[in-house]
Amino acid sequence: MNRPSASVVGSGPNGLAAAIVLGQAGLQVDVLEAEPIPGGAARTMELTLPGFLHDFGSAVHPLAAGSPFFSSLPLRNHGLEWIHSPAVLAHPLDDGTAVMLERDLRETDASLGVDGKSWSELMRPFVKRWQDFAVEVLRPIPSIPKHPWLMARFGVSALLSARSVARHFRSERTRALFAGLAAHSFLSLDEPLSGAFGLLMAISAHAVGWPIPRGGSQSLTNALCRHLGTLGGNVNSSSRVESLVSLPRYDLILCDLTPRQLVTIARERLSYCYKRQLAKFRYGPGAFKVDYALRGPIPWKSSECLRAATIHLGGSFEEIAASEKAVRNGQHPDQPFVLLAQPSFFDSSRAPEGKHTAWAYCHVPNGSRVDMLGRLEAQLERFAPGFRDCVLARRVFSPAALESMDANLVGGDIGGGAMDIRQFLFRPTWRHYATSAKDIYICSSSTPPGGGVHGMCGYHAAKLALSTFRSG
Ligand SMILES: Cc1cc2nc3c(=O)[nH]c(=O)nc-3n(C[C@H](O)[C@H](O)[C@H](O)COP(=O)(O)OP(=O)(O)OC[C@H]3O[C@@H](n4cnc5c(N)ncnc54)[C@H](O)[C@@H]3O)c2cc1C
Repeated sequence: MNRPSASVVGSGPNGLAAAIVLGQAGLQVDVLEAEPIPGGAARTMELTLPGFLHDFGSAVHPLAAGSPFFSSLPLRNHGLEWIHSPAVLAHPLDDGTAVMLERDLRETDASLGVDGKSWSELMRPFVKRWQDFAVEVLRPIPSIPKHPWLMARFGVSALLSARSVARHFRSERTRALFAGLAAHSFLSLDEPLSGAFGLLMAISAHAVGWPIPRGGSQSLTNALCRHLGTLGGNVNSSSRVESLVSLPRYDLILCDLTPRQLVTIARERLSYCYKRQLAKFRYGPGAFKVDYALRGPIPWKSSECLRAATIHLGGSFEEIAASEKAVRNGQHPDQPFVLLAQPSFFDSSRAPEGKHTAWAYCHVPNGSRVDMLGRLEAQLERFAPGFRDCVLARRVFSPAALESMDANLVGGDIGGGAMDIRQFLFRPTWRHYATSAKDIYICSSSTPPGGGVHGMCGYHAAKLALSTFRSG
């Protein structure tokens, strides 16, 4: 008897996770990837000068290192090595100091002074039970929790805005730190759920750290591809799928695509009603990103910043809140909140000896054409005077440039769609991974649990596809 077969369209972390689940179940899997290199937004390339390796998309990987599915795979045997910087995160302030997020909860407790106790009391229950917690938060909601008390406890704060959660803290320094964490949500810090992102980022920092893969995010992708190879699966790059009609016959098709591309390639196979639901899907703000080749380390005012791979540049809670609110209102902030990674400081494979790389982005309205370079670098100069003098080369990615290298980054949206309450519950529709066609599923970050490199969208989609396929 022939083995059942599946095609996965798109080789981002969710496409590869789906392909591995299908391969583990014994299906013959072909992954079809539009770009010449697999990985989607988890790729590493020489984007500036020879010898400087830059992460095109994801750089820092708490959710990959803490992913229930990725953790179950022998990725280390396929070359994946996580590197932890001594501190998780630095948040420099104008007085020349930096608020530090340490991985060890007790050290953070000590470093946050008056707020140390409130911080650790808020995070500890979830840090201690990360394995249970990760399984719950990285799956579709609503579903019946396996750990109801833990999730009820999380839900109390998580549904709040970041501003409400920050009321736990008395010091402006801690509030600033929390604002930077919550701003990963791309939501206004006054919106419900923005608090949940801040908490999840902090909890992951203490539970698993915010590691970078040696060699860049491509190392994670390569390890996933190699593991898929051991299960008999293939990844075919430079194979853009224009229409599912042109594909050979497969028993299952999983699409690591956002709703817009799904409709384009599966138009003939989807019902009118489902396509109307997908048309209502809302994309989130975009990213304006810059990769730097540097002649030396970044000249931070606070030397503490040299202990962390990730730096949040935005100043106080109120400044970050104003920046994120402006973006949500379709405006371009004068002082954008900037997320920066300095991987070469902890991974010498990323740049020639003595030289460095930096990766930075700020949030902009979806599809923005405004050049934010000056404003982004002004934030860098604010906390690292002389930064511009260190730049050997830079590569600027507008939202359109990001999308041109990964079609899922619609209008520069790096999260696969806005994560407001509606799209938190129904992502991309009430069907989640299923579509109106029995053999077609969607498995990208436009499905639960959403953006970030964790592979759990692909994992859940493939599990559902398999159980439906087997039940005939
Ligand atoms: C600038 C940036 C910074 C980020 N930083 C982080 C971070 O530090 N940490 C983190 O965890 N996450 C980060 N993310 C988010 C993370 O990278 C994404 O959430 C994640 O990659 C989503 O995975 P995915 O598989 O759903 O989609 P993608 O990674 O986008 O992969 C989709 C794939 O589908 C392919 N494709 C699209 N259309 C077709 C077609 N018609 N035919 C064939 N193939 C097609 C694309 O080429 C792409 O390879 C970042 C993203 C970006 C862009």
